[in-house]
Amino acid sequence: MPYVAEQNRYTDMKYNRCGKSGIKLPAISLGLWQNFGGNQPLENSREMILKAFDLGITHFDLANNYGPPAGSAEETFGQVFKKDLLSYRDELLISTKAGYYMWEGPYGEWGSRKNLLSSLDQSLKRMGLDYVDIFYSHRPDPETPLEETMGALDHAVRQGKALYVGLSNYNMEQTSQAINILKRLGTPCLIHQPAYSMLNRWIEDGLQEVLDTNGVGSIAYCPLGRGQLTNKYVDKIDAESKSASSTMKPEAITVERVQKFRKLEAIAARRAQSLSQMSLSWALREGGVTSALIGVSRVSQIEENVKALEQAPLSAEELTEIDEVMRN
Ligand code: NDP
Repeated sequence: MPYVAEQNRYTDMKYNRCGKSGIKLPAISLGLWQNFGGNQPLENSREMILKAFDLGITHFDLANNYGPPAGSAEETFGQVFKKDLLSYRDELLISTKAGYYMWEGPYGEWGSRKNLLSSLDQSLKRMGLDYVDIFYSHRPDPETPLEETMGALDHAVRQGKALYVGLSNYNMEQTSQAINILKRLGTPCLIHQPAYSMLNRWIEDGLQEVLDTNGVGSIAYCPLGRGQLTNKYVDKIDAESKSASSTMKPEAITVERVQKFRKLEAIAARRAQSLSQMSLSWALREGGVTSALIGVSRVSQIEENVKALEQAPLSAEELTEIDEVMRN
């Protein structure tokens, strides 16, 4: 059956302005880091991408190295795009990144102009796209001048291969400098992609302020703590879970952590939410991020997570209660 997008796909999703730019991001975006590689059944990946779009998720986040194997998540996305989404290209916001290890030799990673621009060409080819909407420097490079890395991002935009640029994993000082260089070059920084969740609040120590002051948006990766802030560790380690075996080391899930997750789940239950929904309400609370970038392994997780947007925002009392649970 040829795919036809859900007619009401824009009814329930919330769209937040990305900093002071013209672009709006869905409050929940879909990341293709782990469960969309060549080692996964294509049909499940396709169903997840299309379900997300049907629910108003217009933003799909990739990187050159997503898979496994590296590159294969972009190939998966490319196959789905070609088969089902070609006619919806102007409704989609697709991002990719370069900076982590991708190919052998001295040019296959980090922040040189050579790496970024070659990698972007490879990504476009894998996805079958003429351009990406956002091109990121995936991590700061201690050995390459920031001017060179930012110059490469600016060049990608001038070549028409990217519409906007972003930074990921840059600390406060690096971000501030990068924003200024990009401003001078005439390609303003659209967005920063940091890790952010109830378990990891580092952006509150200055980065968020730098972004707000400069009108740069933010998209939180791992808002569910790689699955820790869902129901999956509350009672047991989910036997079906892929993250449990691949990215979350079992020893990271200590008894103390599970006790915290249980307390969080009790707060969520009082609000008639699941823990994953409350974690998203938390990341998207007033003063939080522009979009929460979720990973999923099945369609039902997307459906559950998107429902967080229909639920009441966290009250000041509930936020304090969560702070206390996380502190103790
Ligand atoms: P999340 O914190 O969103 O965790 C995702 C995992 O949580 C899923 O794989 C799934 O586990 C579990 N999950 C999701 N929804 C539910 C639910 N409703 N109930 C139970 N379990 C659920 O983060 P990720 O680590 O996956 O990262 C999200 C995205 O962020 C990536 O795809 C990528 O785009 C981006 N990212 C960017 C980085 C960067 O350096 N810029 C680094 C890391 C991520 P399971 O698979 O076991 O079912």
